[in-house]
Amino acid sequence: MSSNEQLFQRAQGVIPGGVNSPVRAFRAVGGTPRFIQRAQGAYMWDAEGTKYIDYIGSWGPMILGHGHPAVLDAVHQAAADGFSFGAPTEREVQLAEAIIALVPSVEQVRLVSSGTEAGMSAIRLARGATGRSKIVKFEGCYHGHADALLVKAGSGLATFGHPTSAGVPPEVVQHTLVLEYNNIEELEACFKAQGDEIACVMIEPICGNMNFVRASVPFMKRLRELCTQHGAMLAFDEVMTGFRVALGGAQSVYAKLIPGFQPDMSVFGKVIGGGMPLAAFGSSKKVMSQLAPLGPVYQAGTLSGNPVATACGLATLKEISKPGFYEALGARTQSMVAGLTKVAQAAGVPFVGDSEGGMFGFFFSATATSPQPQNYGEVMATDKDRFNRFFHGMLNRGVYLAPALYEAGFVSAAHTEADIAATVAAAAEALQD
Ligand SMILES: *Cc1c(COP(=O)(O)O)cnc(C)c1O
Repeated sequence: MSSNEQLFQRAQGVIPGGVNSPVRAFRAVGGTPRFIQRAQGAYMWDAEGTKYIDYIGSWGPMILGHGHPAVLDAVHQAAADGFSFGAPTEREVQLAEAIIALVPSVEQVRLVSSGTEAGMSAIRLARGATGRSKIVKFEGCYHGHADALLVKAGSGLATFGHPTSAGVPPEVVQHTLVLEYNNIEELEACFKAQGDEIACVMIEPICGNMNFVRASVPFMKRLRELCTQHGAMLAFDEVMTGFRVALGGAQSVYAKLIPGFQPDMSVFGKVIGGGMPLAAFGSSKKVMSQLAPLGPVYQAGTLSGNPVATACGLATLKEISKPGFYEALGARTQSMVAGLTKVAQAAGVPFVGDSEGGMFGFFFSATATSPQPQNYGEVMATDKDRFNRFFHGMLNRGVYLAPALYEAGFVSAAHTEADIAATVAAAAEALQD
């Protein structure tokens, strides 16, 4: 049996940084990544046989926990019938119907294989449908690694973005505008100056890629008004929040707070694949008819709507659609955040936490009185060293949190009250240290 360290050494010889997605390398928190051997329910075991309570859940997809019997069954059956045909299948239709039934703003969807692909295609479609080039994103939101979206804010108000990655030429991001999250004045100024050139505004409505930051209701309301007024599409990136914060996604949460609220376009991933490579983007029939083969906007995929992935996604959606699912998941997640808050207070550690459905986040605030961060700058100002020490304190006690302070956490239906209690007890000890 190889140790995590041995595997990491071997991996670094043949895979850049030893990982196939950077955050897995533990760079932010230091130490050796755990190589996972297997998982069941709320638990994962690493290569050394150490057991962890899993709060990553593959970064969101495993909302039922690992190895749910109904999902496993569906995947086994689908695999026996064939892995991939490159021809349409009934399950793709069923999955599209299921998504549309749960998300009223979506009349048609196209299935793809990753959130990156879905976000990239949604932007191409928004540009094709509006005949405009400019797109707006918010600092701290992540929409996958398509070139045009790997952008950070420039200096000054509503400037053109700068690439955040080598290999992205400045010309490629010249149409991407980057604004501060939750900043209404900046949003208004941007629309005033160039609103009629904006194809779409893409946003994580509850941002899980800067830990956990909600778009405020006044901000969301104004964003909706400005998009409508200027003919720009409002694109909700619900790759993380879709079927995670509520059955109808974050848009259903905002629809309760803002009467009649709907985005124009939605991007899904993570939970809809149940752990298999599957994602989707959707909009009105009118907009979606711009896509090939009906319209001029090209988009395609060899493995799109994969038979095994759609079986996994359908079985997952069926389970999460059962009555009471989100009530139970939300209550358990809330009880964990409340437990963490309590032990942090007892330890005299400045701490703020929040959750919606099965998604949560927490910050070690810089001061005891600082409120929940509202944007990327405020997230960056929280206590990173304390987070990193806490992360390792928890990992050493068998609790696997996201290995970076910018990431949200996830509770699954497989997490029990006992798991939550064990997690809170571990946190009490870790915070004492
Ligand atoms: C994970 C994520 C993506 C990218 O999805 P991949 O499947 O990793 O390409 C896009 N947007 C958001 C909000 C995400 O959380």
